[in-house]
Amino acid sequence: MTPILEIKNLSISLRDKKKMLIKNMNLCVQNGQMLGLVGESGSGKSLTATAILGLLPSSLEIVSGTIQFGSYEITSLTEKECSQIRGKEIAYLPQNYQSYFTPFIKIGHQLVEIIRTHTAKKKTDAKEMALYWLNRVNLPAERVFNSYPYQLSGGQLQRASLAAAIMFRPKLIIADEPTTALDVVNGEIILDLLRDVQQEMNCAVLLISHDLKKMVNKVDELAVMYGGHIAEIGKTRAISNNPVHPYTHLLFQSSLKLSKSVPKELPTIHGEPGLVSLSGCSFLLRCPYATEECSKRPQMKTVGKQHLVACHSVSGGLKKDVSYSFNYQNV
Ligand code: SF4
Repeated sequence: MTPILEIKNLSISLRDKKKMLIKNMNLCVQNGQMLGLVGESGSGKSLTATAILGLLPSSLEIVSGTIQFGSYEITSLTEKECSQIRGKEIAYLPQNYQSYFTPFIKIGHQLVEIIRTHTAKKKTDAKEMALYWLNRVNLPAERVFNSYPYQLSGGQLQRASLAAAIMFRPKLIIADEPTTALDVVNGEIILDLLRDVQQEMNCAVLLISHDLKKMVNKVDELAVMYGGHIAEIGKTRAISNNPVHPYTHLLFQSSLKLSKSVPKELPTIHGEPGLVSLSGCSFLLRCPYATEECSKRPQMKTVGKQHLVACHSVSGGLKKDVSYSFNYQNV
């Protein structure tokens, strides 16, 4: 497989305060692959997506590194060049589907406008194309085409945004928490649809989520982020069978399983979400395995076939029974 997206040594910082938000990130998404980028809020997932789309706000700057998308090096493109790729070769499916369409213009009219902006199609051909893609995401095409956004349910609106995102057959789809604002059933429908169209079009998908458990059954590869760093990356099965980084390991432990009895203690991760050590390992202040060595930044090392982890403790092996617990019966 050839990579469609290759991020090398990417660092992004706040322009004024020089605070690093993404640090030496390396990530590769292959053609026809679905890669899940997981981590809690503030870990840098959406910021990575924004950088790939060439939409970083002026308060942020790329300090080092490259973002290679096909033959384009995104960090060296002008805004005009980026806008020609965005929406056509790189599609974006947002978390907030409510804002995808203008509320007082019919869905069909908006889709036709998007198609005619990117192609030389006549109105009738553009309408035919819009109906095809609405139908492809299992919507009643004619009715949705003639509806205003407020006349659709959340699930229908998110499927209409998916139709808009994929109708130019992009090489890469970035789906940023596409199910967060949906109920469980509609969330599953969207993820299954995304998987279907990805396989049908053989495009790549970068699926961003804070929900590790939900990702495990959907993506080919997982990258776990903490504090602007990739903590662990590899084949999904390799990581779910053997999560090696303490953060990944604790995330899996923190997922509740259905059982007949309520556990006495709920597993949690020590410390506030977003607590990041500014020196050494990002996870240092919350890690139950931390040693003196962790005051130095850990480098990525191989722990198995196509499985990498950035942690000093890995060579010694983790004591898998260590975790912090929250005793809810005392509350
Ligand atoms: Fe924990 Fe140290 Fe590994 Fe960081 S490097 S995850 S602090 S053991």
